[in-house]
Amino acid sequence: MKYAEVAVSAPGGHRHTFTYSIPDSLDVEVGSGVWVPFGARVLQGVVTSLTDSSSISEIRMISDIIGTSPLVSPERIQLALWIADYYLAPVFSAVALMLPPGFERTQEIKTKHLAFLRLNPEKESISQVILELKRARALKQAEVLEYLDQSAGPLLTSQIQEHLKCNRSPIKALLAKGLIVEENVDVDRNPLAGREFPLEFPFTFTSDQQSAWQRIKGSITGQGRNGKPGIFLLHGVTGSGKTEVYLQALAETISLGKKGICMVPEIALTPQVIDRFMGRFPGRVALLHSKLSLGQQYDVWQGICRGDLDIVIGPRSAIFAPQPDLGLIIVDEEHEWAYKQSDKMPRYHARDVAVQLAGLTGATLILGSATPSIETYYRAQRSEYQLVELPERITPLGQSPLPEVSIVNMRDEFKSGNRSIFSRLLKSRITYALEQHEQIVLFINRRGLATFIECMDCGFIPSCSRCSVALTYHAASNRLICHHCRRLYTVLKKCPNCSSTDIKYFGVGTETVETECRKQFPGSKIIRFDSDTVSSNREYETTVNSFRKHEADILVGTQIVAKGLNFPHVSLVGAVNADIGLNLPDFRSGERTFQLLCQVAGRAGRGTFAGKAVIQTFNPDYYAIKFAARHDYAGFYNSEIKYRRSYGYPPFSDMIRLVYSHINEEKCKAEADRMHTLIKTEIDSKGLPGFKLIGPVSTYIARLRGKYQIQIILLGKDLQDILSAMYFPKGWILDVDPLGMI
Ligand code: ADP
Ligand code: ZN
Ligand code: ZN
Repeated sequence: MKYAEVAVSAPGGHRHTFTYSIPDSLDVEVGSGVWVPFGARVLQGVVTSLTDSSSISEIRMISDIIGTSPLVSPERIQLALWIADYYLAPVFSAVALMLPPGFERTQEIKTKHLAFLRLNPEKESISQVILELKRARALKQAEVLEYLDQSAGPLLTSQIQEHLKCNRSPIKALLAKGLIVEENVDVDRNPLAGREFPLEFPFTFTSDQQSAWQRIKGSITGQGRNGKPGIFLLHGVTGSGKTEVYLQALAETISLGKKGICMVPEIALTPQVIDRFMGRFPGRVALLHSKLSLGQQYDVWQGICRGDLDIVIGPRSAIFAPQPDLGLIIVDEEHEWAYKQSDKMPRYHARDVAVQLAGLTGATLILGSATPSIETYYRAQRSEYQLVELPERITPLGQSPLPEVSIVNMRDEFKSGNRSIFSRLLKSRITYALEQHEQIVLFINRRGLATFIECMDCGFIPSCSRCSVALTYHAASNRLICHHCRRLYTVLKKCPNCSSTDIKYFGVGTETVETECRKQFPGSKIIRFDSDTVSSNREYETTVNSFRKHEADILVGTQIVAKGLNFPHVSLVGAVNADIGLNLPDFRSGERTFQLLCQVAGRAGRGTFAGKAVIQTFNPDYYAIKFAARHDYAGFYNSEIKYRRSYGYPPFSDMIRLVYSHINEEKCKAEADRMHTLIKTEIDSKGLPGFKLIGPVSTYIARLRGKYQIQIILLGKDLQDILSAMYFPKGWILDVDPLGMI
């Protein structure tokens, strides 16, 4: 008898697999989809391993197999098991990441045809036939004919049925009589159909690129360190030629008969990178995209399975594409937070998954960034990864310096009587750039008009009724909005607490900056760019293209203006308030500020002239701001790593964040206390040293969508060993390697 371990798609989720016996009639392999009895039901599952014996006495039998061949390759089953173990997630939730899109609804997705009806061109005198049908009391048939007769061409069968409110029988009758014809038309589900990308050609490498490439090439062609494929950190400022290295590395991989996966933080934010891939490898790139229809995703997936596509590009889920013969994985902007799935299980980090997959498949891995995450740079320092650097920016005029960055202390501005949101320096630079007919990008890390609203008489601050968060005013809709649950509130005319009408608006958001620009720079054209004004990919593209064509002078936006864009006419970038986010109680706030400011400053001077950047702050001595202004990654890293070491934060320990939420505050506290004691007992009983438990404490947003939230943070090594055997009731969320502590 043979046995199979099966990850079962059972509600609630299980962190282990179940053992089933395999009937002789079924050809079950690792990765096969199966139907298995589970309690009183039959559920879907995926086989994770096969064995010849089992110690369990009563074993049920697999009921049936799904499809003819395995749904998931053996390496990716290994990857899923690693994800489930490492991220403490149900096994099926990890396996499900590797399944074809719409696994449970395959039949529906496979349909690629639409049925059209038209009149049979060989039949004449339709009006005569219609009359006869009426007379014969076949009214519906007559209606169908009449409807088709009046239309210019073929019509969708489903549309006719809907319009005439009829079932299929009159259509069947007409088809049988040969009066109408039905045709199935193939629907083109290729998401790239009809889109053209300008052809792209490789550059001759600069000497920096050449030396970087020599090392990476050695790994791709198998002559790397001990012939083992390597993990590279490609560290280079924006515009230093990293993408060109990716492209040529992919070309080399393909020439060796292998394939690649390239991850980008978010498709919509990186259109220019994607265009270059499409233009360099026409017809051989698959684009995975959350906005694709299920049918399109299915088609792309099938194409990848067949080995039709040399390169898969996509956001974090692209790492799970069934790309065969994987030779190269690229993680562009490896430091980006979008690679972490924080909102649902399994809470994986796609960069760390890529490291595992490279190990399992023997693929070379390139992690690229201008501002590498502290964890990745630390590993490169310890030679776990190979550090490859591109120190200089490439511009059409040869090597031009990075933008000159000035820090303005806003306290001094206030002292000298300037109450405007623009410092004198930023204002004069904007005026000058406008005179020169150059473009300007203004960055502010917050949407809306005001950070919060306060009653001047009693200090009342309106906040969301479901979240412990102050509301933000949005002028365009004239509403107060909760930025956490998006609930809308009407604007206050009177304080609900003391009835005072003296209500003041504080803080700065994108709308404030836009309004100020209109006031201070009349006649200039301004575009505001944030998730309030740009909600779809198309709007995004239109806005970006319009600004690139110089149809506006000033672009005001949130961090989406900082990512991946390249505007040749921008000579000035201003960070209106660099401090937002600084004072958050989180060990990553310095890193985040540094990355964001480097990115923002990197938007200036990508064309033929060197740009300038102005950072406005109330904390001009804050280390992350100072190092960002000097483009000094090494300096920043050295400060940051000292801080992390002294507090024992990652990468010097691992971190798991446990959050419990409940509508009742007392119950929430009691459960968090109970779990804290359990974890402590578990650590003590194992006699393990070097652990740190923080909490239980309320999360930064103590109440969210009506639920109280309390967290416990566990720091140490191999934390999974402590938690994997414990039971966490509903309401608990476990986040391994969380993005932050808030
Ligand atoms: P990054 O990915 O680091 O931002 P890119 O690869 O996009 O850098 O390169 C920046 C600019 O320099 C692009 O416009 C690119 O076309 C150009 N470029 C890259 N490599 C070369 C090269 N070897 N010779 C000339 N131009 C290059
Ligand atoms: Zn009041
Ligand atoms: Zn809310």
